Amino acid sequence: MKDQNKNLKDMPPDAFRKYGHQLVDWVADYFEKIETYKVLPDVKPGDLISKLPVNPPEEGEDMDKIFSDIDKLILPALTHWNHPGFFAMFNSTSSGPGILAEILSAALNANSMTWLTSPASTELEKVTLDWLRQMIGLPENFWGIIYDTASTSTLHAIAAAREQAEGLKIKEKGMSGRDDLPLLRIYVSEHTHSVAHKAAVTLGLGLESIKVVKSDDQFRMIPLELSLAIEDDIKNSIIPICIVATIGTTSSTSIDPVDEIAAIANRHNIWLHVDAAQAGSAAILPEMKWIMNGADKADSFCLNPHKWMFLPVDLSVLFTKKPDILKRTFSITLDILKAYEKGGAQNYMDYGFQLGRRFRSLKLWFVIRYFGIEGLQNIIRNHLSLGKDFEKWIDEHPQLEKMAPVNFSTICFRFNPGNLPDTKLDELNESLLKNINDTRDIFLSHTKLNGRYLLRISISGIRTDQEHLDKAKQIIDDKIKSLII
Ligand SMILES: *Cc1c(COP(=O)(O)O)cnc(C)c1O
Repeated sequence: MKDQNKNLKDMPPDAFRKYGHQLVDWVADYFEKIETYKVLPDVKPGDLISKLPVNPPEEGEDMDKIFSDIDKLILPALTHWNHPGFFAMFNSTSSGPGILAEILSAALNANSMTWLTSPASTELEKVTLDWLRQMIGLPENFWGIIYDTASTSTLHAIAAAREQAEGLKIKEKGMSGRDDLPLLRIYVSEHTHSVAHKAAVTLGLGLESIKVVKSDDQFRMIPLELSLAIEDDIKNSIIPICIVATIGTTSSTSIDPVDEIAAIANRHNIWLHVDAAQAGSAAILPEMKWIMNGADKADSFCLNPHKWMFLPVDLSVLFTKKPDILKRTFSITLDILKAYEKGGAQNYMDYGFQLGRRFRSLKLWFVIRYFGIEGLQNIIRNHLSLGKDFEKWIDEHPQLEKMAPVNFSTICFRFNPGNLPDTKLDELNESLLKNINDTRDIFLSHTKLNGRYLLRISISGIRTDQEHLDKAKQIIDDKIKSLII
């Protein structure tokens, strides 16, 4: 019988120390040689499953054996998000201090449902979020809470918006079986992330509650169209509850005119949620503060530090001016927990549907302290400058065409030699992307704007620098040359 089967206890501290050091060495080695890996693995769906045992082990296994399977089984099936050649979607790269904080968080295992269950976690969350608020330039009347993802942050914002709408009593009476409840409306643009749609589904509002407001030629919501849509709804007894504006949309990183949208929201007393999940981190730079224009007038604001602030997934922040409404939406305190409501102490469990909460603020604390505001600014500023350089390359390239304004470091472009119909170009660009990603040396994604297929490169990895973009340019050029037109 193995040791671990006999001793009825956890791994002994000495063994933990030994394997802990081994694992930290493994991680350091991984980062040192990360560029020797391909960004994308050479696998088919089911490849890893076919290599894993169908049944769990009866007896405990040696840590050495488990470790060796990381190299043998896991790495070959991994898409390396931390690789400097990862330019797809919005990257999320983890940094040393963030990883160390995750180890600590798991070790302490504090569950911060109430202040008493973890005073340190509750209070560190409050302080680090106030730091973050100052860093991005939101006013003091914004209060913050950590959730896992922007999907969850958005869901909570829309739930609070629904609670704010006068006289609906949805918390008490729900939405089903009621004939006194008209259609409730959420306004988005065609470029709003689907997290808003998913929130509508989850909250029982349904997809019919989503009104897509037209965008302009730079993919920004048109305030006049929003205004007309709201007035039209009100005339038809539909109740507007929420507007979702975006700073840095997922396709093209366009920026909705938040200031004008806020004026409309204010006029009709509609909750304005601003989704800045990725691009919000850029507001740490003084020269990028303009992207926050109007955000101070929003009711809630979401930012994912796990995207462009180099924290390991997951950590999303929801800032709101109306924590009282968020609390009214979600607080249902059971008697067993009521006893822990101490004078003045904040219990984060009252501000969301989760009871148990991880000690996530540790990684925010570690990362902000390790890099400092200046360090984070320098990294993000470098990404913006790499983006400018790449944009210039596209602009000067005889066969490439820029497809959207570049606000940050995400560039939308397509192959266009100039004499082919759009449908043919769609096909060619789809092949081009496939050929680029088949090298597995870099990973780009695609999107559609105005119905056209295009390629999208997003530069935000902490290990990404000029040499990686030079390599990307070279691969794109090679694959253009080998396109069969
Ligand atoms: C990434 C992103 C989301 C979704 O983020 P998750 O944290 O994965 O839920 C939503 N909105 C925008 C603008 C995003 O960039």
